[in-house]
Amino acid sequence: MTTTSSALGRIAPSATLAMSGRVMELRAKGIDVIGLSAGEPDFDTPDFVKEAAIKAIRDGHTKYTAVDGIPELKDAIAAKFKRDNSLEYGHDQISVNAGGKHTLFNAFVATLDAGDEVIIPAPYWVSYPDIVRFAGGEPVILLAGADQHYKITPEQLEAAITPKTRWLILNSPSNPTGAAYSAEEFKALGEVIARYDNVMVMTDDMYEHIWYADIPFTTFAEVCPALYDRTLTVNGASKAYAMTGWRIGYAGGPDWLIKGMRKLQSQSTSNPCSISQHAALAALSGPQDFLKERNDAFRSRRDLVVSMLNDAPGLSCPMPEGAFYVYPDASGLMGKTTPAGNVIESDEDLIGYFLDEARVAAVHGAAFGLSPGFRISYATSYDVLEEACTRIQSSCAALA
Ligand code: GLU
Repeated sequence: MTTTSSALGRIAPSATLAMSGRVMELRAKGIDVIGLSAGEPDFDTPDFVKEAAIKAIRDGHTKYTAVDGIPELKDAIAAKFKRDNSLEYGHDQISVNAGGKHTLFNAFVATLDAGDEVIIPAPYWVSYPDIVRFAGGEPVILLAGADQHYKITPEQLEAAITPKTRWLILNSPSNPTGAAYSAEEFKALGEVIARYDNVMVMTDDMYEHIWYADIPFTTFAEVCPALYDRTLTVNGASKAYAMTGWRIGYAGGPDWLIKGMRKLQSQSTSNPCSISQHAALAALSGPQDFLKERNDAFRSRRDLVVSMLNDAPGLSCPMPEGAFYVYPDASGLMGKTTPAGNVIESDEDLIGYFLDEARVAAVHGAAFGLSPGFRISYATSYDVLEEACTRIQSSCAALA
């Protein structure tokens, strides 16, 4: 018996991680590739966080913990939700997991039955539809293109809701477009959701602290208090605190859901890494001033990349309002021919060409549900980004 399950057959490997793996392979062969595919900050985990983790090891915090998080970390998460989002969550309303992806996985596996629908605005983060499919659900994709600033409208949402809808996913600022919803836009979506009590809202706020818009960051449950009991507010340590490898995601939500997620986690990973939990505790409760400095660095990188990509023939790059991604439209390059005589027929062909010729790794738009385009993560140094964009400009110019 060598076949895998039908659930596994419903998903594809993560396109972002696949491209990062390809970059590692090329580098191992001595090929110099600029990797702009992985969505992780180039900044290091702050020293005070590392010290807290080392202390946790020395203090013997090396054993199992409570399944969905130590009480001290839940206190710090509750304080964070209050401080940053004006949201109150008690310990029974908080779940700590092995990364934001695990949080989503727990929530969907805990709530979806076969055929349940999950509304996912596109472009979307690559893993949303796959996790939904794995859990037996059906992704319902709502396309929100550049003409609507990559944000869904209340009319679109209402038209997509059926008696089988279980969840709407909102991700602001968005991976991959950087689009950010205002409080008014959330309220307008909330008015629709309020009419359908079969629908829950999952807000992925992972990029909360990477924000350039003039309006302040808001999260759905904060601006739609009537839907607080129907919202799972997801966040994590990875992006804000440059802790991708530590794997700490968390969520605040209704206690019945948090309890279900705990039950599932007790039969899969058990607790998230004990040392990482102490590190996340330090990150959330320590000084936060470096977040602004890092945000300023991301903003100047964004400005560089947007301007250079808009100067590349055939590309059009909207200005993101948050996160550390740009999502240029590559329609102007489809059908063009490379110097080697290959026709660029898709965004996958285009990023293959960039990888082979420019030695720059990006992720093709089809993986995020909107083609032809691609995603670049600008969470790398200014100089490297300048070099990468120069190479992309030359590669685009070489297409005929
Ligand atoms: N969220 C990041 C990205 O989109 C990390 C990789 C992943 O898990 O997809 O690149």
